[in-house]
Amino acid sequence: MTRVALLGATGSIGRQALEVIEANDELELVAASSGTTPIDGLAPLTQVGGDPTELLERAEPDVVLNATLGFAGLPATMWALERGVTLALANKESLVAAGDLALAARERGGGVLLPVDSEHSALYQCALAGDADAVVLTASGGPFRGRTRDELADVTAEEALAHPTWNMGAKITVDSATLANKGLEVIEAHFLFGLPYDRIEVVVHPTSIVHGIVRFRDGAALAHVGYPDMRVPISYALTYPRRAATPVPPLDLTAGPLEFFEPDLETFSMLALARDAGERGGTFPCAYNAANEVAVAAFLAGRIGFLDIAALVEEALGNVDGAPARDLDELREADRQARTLAEREWA
Ligand code: MG
Repeated sequence: MTRVALLGATGSIGRQALEVIEANDELELVAASSGTTPIDGLAPLTQVGGDPTELLERAEPDVVLNATLGFAGLPATMWALERGVTLALANKESLVAAGDLALAARERGGGVLLPVDSEHSALYQCALAGDADAVVLTASGGPFRGRTRDELADVTAEEALAHPTWNMGAKITVDSATLANKGLEVIEAHFLFGLPYDRIEVVVHPTSIVHGIVRFRDGAALAHVGYPDMRVPISYALTYPRRAATPVPPLDLTAGPLEFFEPDLETFSMLALARDAGERGGTFPCAYNAANEVAVAAFLAGRIGFLDIAALVEEALGNVDGAPARDLDELREADRQARTLAEREWA
């Protein structure tokens, strides 16, 4: 039996994780937490709100599935990495923000870090075949693919929330519409696979059938394909290194063409800003994430327009010092400063 602690149990990933755990006799849910929504009798230990590390101490899980939203997922990520408890990471923001500190914690803990992000799970699986020379992240392009900047000035939160292929929570869906999600994923890939940024490519692939491609030095490239369904990467992370059955049907290879396009970096500047923040290093990725969280919340509340999200993040990144954080306190301070700057922008 694998003892699973599920953090973010009431979100989109959390609910699908519960399905996966329920369907697999080898998985036992020993703890569950959520940020705000009550959890009814799911596991022996549950918690709503606050830092879940005490819950984790009591639950003694084999795997922590961190599906918390945003920077708030940091304590659970660090808890698992420091102790060498397997971390199934759906909370990409904590790895993006903590970066080097998180990798140092993994080094000390000696545990396994398995990405649950579909693209990174795909890349992780392909990279088992050899040393990755470069990776390709696919992006659906979101609901506004093909639109110009002018056409995006007045789009509403409702339009941004209508994602064409993935059914997800509000924050990540807006991140998909701005391509900030892909930006965060570029930084996430940098830390997961230890590749420089010029070896992390992004290609728009509207049907989300190819989840990721790993290139090798001999010219070979391995792609991971399948229907877009988060139960696959969730199940993989919870049962690794084995695989369990899921209800996802086998891919129909005759169903249609697979198309790929260059991303429009001028219209969707959040992707370019993320790459820039990643290359500058230090706490720039942390600041990018923090300012984006503030901007997305303001957009969802109807306080700023869609294009203001990138404008606000760019402005905040131009005003932080981005110095590396030597510990978690300094990291939290960098996060707080970027939030304050971003909030000042639209206030
Ligand atoms: Mg993803």
